[in-house]
Amino acid sequence: MTNLATLLTGSASEHGDRIAVRHENTALTYAQLDDLSARTAALLRARGVRPGDRVAVIMPNVPHFPVVYYGILRVGAVVVPMNPLLKAREIAFTLRDCGARTVLASPMSAAEAAIAASAAGTGWLVVDPADFDARLERTEPLPAVVDTDDADLAVILYTSGTTGTPKGAELTHRNLLSNTATAVETLFHVAPDDVLFGGLPLFHAFGQTCGLNTAVAAGATLTLLTRFDPAAALETIRRDGVTVFFGVPTMYAALLNAELPDGFDAARLRLAVSGGASLPVEVLHGFERRFGVDVLEGYGLSETSPVAAFNPPDRPRKPGSIGLPVRGVELRLVGRDGTTTGPGEVGEIAVRGENVMAGYHNQPRATANAIRDGWFHTGDLARVDEDGYYFIVDRTKDVIIRGGYNVYPREVEEVLYTHPAVAEAAVVGVPDPLLGEEVAAVVVLKPGAHATVEEIRDHAKAQVAAYKYPRVVTLTDALPKGPTGKILKREIVIAPAAA
Ligand code: AMP
Repeated sequence: MTNLATLLTGSASEHGDRIAVRHENTALTYAQLDDLSARTAALLRARGVRPGDRVAVIMPNVPHFPVVYYGILRVGAVVVPMNPLLKAREIAFTLRDCGARTVLASPMSAAEAAIAASAAGTGWLVVDPADFDARLERTEPLPAVVDTDDADLAVILYTSGTTGTPKGAELTHRNLLSNTATAVETLFHVAPDDVLFGGLPLFHAFGQTCGLNTAVAAGATLTLLTRFDPAAALETIRRDGVTVFFGVPTMYAALLNAELPDGFDAARLRLAVSGGASLPVEVLHGFERRFGVDVLEGYGLSETSPVAAFNPPDRPRKPGSIGLPVRGVELRLVGRDGTTTGPGEVGEIAVRGENVMAGYHNQPRATANAIRDGWFHTGDLARVDEDGYYFIVDRTKDVIIRGGYNVYPREVEEVLYTHPAVAEAAVVGVPDPLLGEEVAAVVVLKPGAHATVEEIRDHAKAQVAAYKYPRVVTLTDALPKGPTGKILKREIVIAPAAA
């Protein structure tokens, strides 16, 4: 019994009356979630879905996401989750690439999904809560979970990785079961009375493993937020008594600068977990002070299910560090010549372990390039300290080379965040005829705060070597962000007038 869906059947038999998922005014117990997903499985089977078939899911964070997720897994089929904001052209690309058999889409994505499904020759169904549930009512639940092998695919996660075109990271039942068990047992110590914050998208690795699968494995509650915004997040934390918060750094920055409602109380909050991008040390300290909770940073990728490193809860956390390799996972730093780098030296993080994907779907070349001798090469640069803690320096492709000197944007961003008026900052390279690249910063100020670009530039200039500080500083209202809330550096446009 290695099917990922057994996480749900197990919790349904042990904690049937507990709340599995909360969303706005609705709640599903484990018994209800299990029953609905067993009916979804029967519906899919009746439509001809067989073990190994791919079923696309295009949904925001709503209770039907877990219903169909475990329903697809129960018949031994493979879940291909997609961002509900995708357009028909993008959906069709993924449907063709993964060879999907069926698409399950929320009403908000129905129109785009319909165009894409007809272009790709795929069947599709709208998961409109009322109609879909009525249909499930008329379907007898599929009694058993299809037995799968460890190496069978459970989920294909499309990721842009370090190149532009999305590639499907093939995650097996074993990949996800192992990473989930590690998270529940050794990282977050999730128990049935925990309430996990579900504000990260479930179609992405971080929200899916750390939110959904860990909650379901432990029989805990996942409280879903359709779209992250700081006021709604604070209200959810208070109303549902969230015990474990998960977020990307921009969510931490937003909560740090948001106004707290009168009588706000996060008394049950016992842990906050950050990942997905570097958490500026200043933001970590500010959040810990404001909410009185430890923030533990981890690191991972879609290709590693995702968690590869984490600041272990039983040791003092190191701000600025992604922590140690997690249980069942090894890390090493690879230098330019392919050998392991020496102490204190920067190298590319390579990962080996039960969490590493089978490969990129239908992309043998990209797979062979990424996974060499059993090690997955991440494209992220790091150093390791004498205690074995890893510190991300930056992504290989984000390093700015200014007149032959390497500038790691992350280091400059850390300094910008120490300016009292700065809410968010991103440092990027801009083309320069003499130097090759020049360092530029784009900054969002805290609400009501004032600072000039000169003040911000001088603040950085006073703290880093002359070749590193941003000669160009631009103020903006908002930085471009991806679906998880990560800052999208490649979409940052620097206005020449600000130079
Ligand atoms: P994704 O596959 O969308 O989860 O993106 C994975 C990428 O996110 C990694 O390759 C890193 O560049 C970045 N990332 C994840 N966690 C961290 C972290 N704690 N610090 C810095 N970068 C991170």
